[in-house]
Amino acid sequence: MKTYNVDENGFYGEFGGAYVPEILYKTVEDLKNQYLPIIESPEFVAEYNQLLKDYVGRPSALYYAKRMSEKYGCKLYLKREDLNHTGAHKINNAIGQILLAKKMGKKRIIAETGAGQHGVATATVCALMNMPCRVYMGDTDVARQRPNVERMKMLGAEVFPVQSGNKTLKDATNEAIRDWCCHPADTFYIIGSTVGPHPYPDMVARLQSVISKEIKEQLLEKEDRDYPDYLMACIGGGSNAAGTIYHYIDDERVKIVLGEAGGYGIDTQETAASLNIGTPGILHGSRIKVMQDEDGQIIEPYSISAGLDYPGTGPIHCNLYETGRAQVLPINDDEALDAAFELTRMEGIIPALESSHALALLPKMKFNPTDIVVLTVSGRGDKDMETYLKNVR
Ligand SMILES: *Cc1c(COP(=O)(O)O)cnc(C)c1O
Repeated sequence: MKTYNVDENGFYGEFGGAYVPEILYKTVEDLKNQYLPIIESPEFVAEYNQLLKDYVGRPSALYYAKRMSEKYGCKLYLKREDLNHTGAHKINNAIGQILLAKKMGKKRIIAETGAGQHGVATATVCALMNMPCRVYMGDTDVARQRPNVERMKMLGAEVFPVQSGNKTLKDATNEAIRDWCCHPADTFYIIGSTVGPHPYPDMVARLQSVISKEIKEQLLEKEDRDYPDYLMACIGGGSNAAGTIYHYIDDERVKIVLGEAGGYGIDTQETAASLNIGTPGILHGSRIKVMQDEDGQIIEPYSISAGLDYPGTGPIHCNLYETGRAQVLPINDDEALDAAFELTRMEGIIPALESSHALALLPKMKFNPTDIVVLTVSGRGDKDMETYLKNVR
């Protein structure tokens, strides 16, 4: 059967793989050999599920958005990852990876962060598990996501501001990889999305797959069938989208529509829509679609949303895009802001700016009235209040 899942070499079609420097080879190889036996072990599953339930607050609600459904002419359900502890889906993955790190005997945790949600999730699980934690964050993001920086510090993490490039997520990731190269034996790198060398994209997708596992159960209860007509999500590196589609990825009855960050528009220099305008290249350990010039130099990305401001997208979604399995539309800053205010005023939910890129897909769609649509609200908007208040609709 045709599958969109990973092959034994870590590839999704022509994307993925593990392109790491010699010094990390053994570390990545160890992880590749150990991640599945560990995360599939009954002991891990029990501990992980317990924490998801009692610490994160799962299952997250599947909310029927009545007013928005009427407006868009479909049955719209919102998968409420914004209700999780720490405010986004990132915690699902961070809990899984720290349990894995402990089982592998690692003593120190590093992470990269853009908007700070992954940094906060990692700092949180490090406090929980009593592990030292250093978070790399671009200096631009340190400034625009100040509340999350303060949360990380209060949680006991060391936040390391990165000054290279345009001081955003790509640059923070470079710095985290540099640290990892210096301490490969004792340090576990908790990557926050479905990016990086194999096995990270597959591992993160599995740890986020609880989202679609719950959607199946919740739809069966509410609609008497366990699949929707449409799944929708925003896409930065791709983890909330990967979790949303995981159990439906090979089920072609389910259409997948994703929103990536258009910035000021894909015909301008100010964009982060790497699936729509990128070309294949190797970035941060895997072959993906990257925004680059003819010489292979990275074009600095731009998005109003720090969580989507990255010049590539993970290999899973590169393959879904290239094969046509998923439709990926660029969503511009303005459209995302409109969508954020619309959800807030119509349903009383203030979404993260990233999630607003999924909501902004709705006006671009033509649904049938009977269509069941599940859209993942990846996080809450508290961290984005300053941006929203500057752009009131
Ligand atoms: C990090 C983040 C994203 C983007 O990351 P993905 O890996 O693509 O999910 C989206 N929404 C929120 C709220 C985030 O914090």
